[in-house]
Amino acid sequence: MTITSLFHQTRPFIRPYRHLLFATLSLTAIGSFAAQVNAWILRYTVDNINTLTEAHKTLKDGMNLLLFISGVLVAKEIVYALVQFGQKYYGEKLRIYITRDLAQTIVDRILTYRMAFYTSNDNESGKLQTRIDLGISSLTRLVQNFFIDIVPLFANSIVALVFMFNANFYVGLVGLAILPIYFYISQLQATKLGGFRRRMRTYRENKSNGIISLIDSITVIKSFVREPLEAEKHKDLQFSMTQNLMQTRQLSFVFDSVKGFVEQFGVVVIIILTSYFVLNGNMTIGAIMFHILLFNNVSSPIRQLHRIYDEVNDALINAEGYFEIVQAEGEVEQSGHLQPIIEGHFALRNVNFHYPNGTQALKDVSIKIEPNKITALVGLSGAGKSTLINLLDKFYEPSSGEIYLDGNNLKEIDTAYLRSKIGLVLQKNHIFKGTIAENIAYGKLGASQIEIETAAKQAYIHDQIIQLPNGYETNAHQLSGGQQQRIAIARLFLKDPAIIFLDEPTANLDAIATEQIRKSLDAIKKDRTVIIISHSISQIIDAENIIVMDNGRVVEEGLHDELYDRQGTYYNIFSAMANSLNIEKIARTMN
Ligand code: ADP
Repeated sequence: MTITSLFHQTRPFIRPYRHLLFATLSLTAIGSFAAQVNAWILRYTVDNINTLTEAHKTLKDGMNLLLFISGVLVAKEIVYALVQFGQKYYGEKLRIYITRDLAQTIVDRILTYRMAFYTSNDNESGKLQTRIDLGISSLTRLVQNFFIDIVPLFANSIVALVFMFNANFYVGLVGLAILPIYFYISQLQATKLGGFRRRMRTYRENKSNGIISLIDSITVIKSFVREPLEAEKHKDLQFSMTQNLMQTRQLSFVFDSVKGFVEQFGVVVIIILTSYFVLNGNMTIGAIMFHILLFNNVSSPIRQLHRIYDEVNDALINAEGYFEIVQAEGEVEQSGHLQPIIEGHFALRNVNFHYPNGTQALKDVSIKIEPNKITALVGLSGAGKSTLINLLDKFYEPSSGEIYLDGNNLKEIDTAYLRSKIGLVLQKNHIFKGTIAENIAYGKLGASQIEIETAAKQAYIHDQIIQLPNGYETNAHQLSGGQQQRIAIARLFLKDPAIIFLDEPTANLDAIATEQIRKSLDAIKKDRTVIIISHSISQIIDAENIIVMDNGRVVEEGLHDELYDRQGTYYNIFSAMANSLNIEKIARTMN
């Protein structure tokens, strides 16, 4: 990313605050003139005192002069203080507003992105979060640097330079000559450091991702006593990061020293040059100080140049990350416009699907799924069952082939509308931070307490909830896995969708809960399309259509008895399930 494209892309964020920008810049202009007053006053004072001492005058004769310069300096300081306050205040306001907009924009944006964006390796939560944070803070610093630091400093510098030229062409030339040298060195520094910086960003992303996954995996880490291994992994990252940082600093310090030397060299040249002109009679003695102070005004922003250059370069790299996310047009979830009345007939024609990493999870799938029935997807783990549901929910689009719902191509249907008609219950359901009531109410915005309780009753969880000390106001994270599962099912009842996808909904439940849920699902299936992925024999046997999948393909389809008699994939899976139950022994016990 170049500076021009960075400014181009940042402009829309600054545009709403033009008036603040204008106020800041106007104050800057006033401030840069005020900043030169000291140099003028010093020259004026030195020259006048010089005249007075040469004429053997006393302090009394110089009183007017002292009063005058004190008055001017106090007035200048008052103006300067006001200007600085205004400049900082408006600049800061601009910065804070822009930060807010940058942060909101990216959240608004990524919420519109398709599932593949979130499952991509580059966007693991820790990495994404770091990239967003660094991007926002860098862009904010850029705005701060530019409007609060750089512009005022450079305005000072330019005004000082004009004054130098105005007073003496040659001295002005020395002041000017230093600028390109500084720019050149700073740019060289930036180019040399670019690679280090980019690497640093990757290290930071990996580090925070590492910490997040560490916390997520803590139970496994501890149970396998892998603390030393994890600590070692983190240490490696930390050491590479430190080394990279040290190299960056070392290089920076070398460049800083060179720049410091150039600046001091400039001061020496100015002293020699002005002394020459004074001795020559071309300048008054006050001009020596005058030029040194002006040169200081020229070089002090330049002294900061490397810092600003550093930060601008940081911002360039981090902003790249930010804008890549904000402008990922390809990631925006596609939606059609149709909002048909949903009956729930799905038809898949020759559907193939590859995940973004290249895994082909569905191969030439052509099936029909009908409402008013429970369709069970059966297959070994990895067969593609969850993927099929992901496609029907439009979380992903088929790589080829078509999916129809009631005769409409899924692509043409409004995605949000479609999802509002689908209820999805997964093996591990997400429970949001908040109370039980809030978690159930997520299924229907603005649901009343009665509706929430009715749904909880349907999911057979109401009785357990009211036993809790805080009832429906209990923190939902305190519930057990099976209870959380039923909260998710209650959410589904509240949503009351036409289509229901259940991905191993009872895997975490005890036998009694499973039986209860089965009953409530039986009640809900009427007029609805229900697809269930399950490893529970009873749920499979009961299904009115069984679709058997193997390695991404649909290999068999039909009712339990037919499929069993066929002695194929279904037979094998079913037999294995039945054997694992040890039916003989169960039967003996029951007898
Ligand atoms: P099932 O639900 O039958 O157990 P899945 O549909 O989850 O199987 O997975 C089918 C195949 O797709 C598997 O090989 C799995 O590794 C792969 N897969 C699943 N999710 C992803 C993903 N997000 N990215 C890449 N590959 C995936």
